[in-house]
Amino acid sequence: MADLRCPICVDSMLTKHSENGTDVDFCEKCGGIWLDKGELNKITHPIAGDLEFCCHENHQKSIITEHLCPLCTNGTKLVEAYFMEYSDIRIEYCKCCDGIWLEKGELDVINREIDALKEVPESLDHKIMVFLSKLPFN
Ligand SMILES: [Zn+2]
Ligand SMILES: [Zn+2]
Repeated sequence: MADLRCPICVDSMLTKHSENGTDVDFCEKCGGIWLDKGELNKITHPIAGDLEFCCHENHQKSIITEHLCPLCTNGTKLVEAYFMEYSDIRIEYCKCCDGIWLEKGELDVINREIDALKEVPESLDHKIMVFLSKLPFN
């Protein structure tokens, strides 16, 4: 497969980078990552449902950017959309191949959002972990 070009930097090529055990395409220059269809669900914290579907659902609020999809060779431009209806996380995705572009740090923001969604009683394990991490010997 040909090397992918960063949609933001343009003159920088993406390199393979392992994120939670999944190989994603990473730009060393701007720190953004390109996710092929299905990869967002693999690298975020586990949650029931399809996160990518959530992104695509909000397309009515989306804006076409000037950034070219790194994968599609037909000049498809990425679309900027809200990660979720009520969130202010904005991601970019390609309507053609369903790939998603995340800017540096956006994965962390998304994971925090997922964790907030999961703040329900059954996340006792998480609470124990938080408790342990506050102990002085840690
Ligand atoms: Zn870049
Ligand atoms: Zn594409």
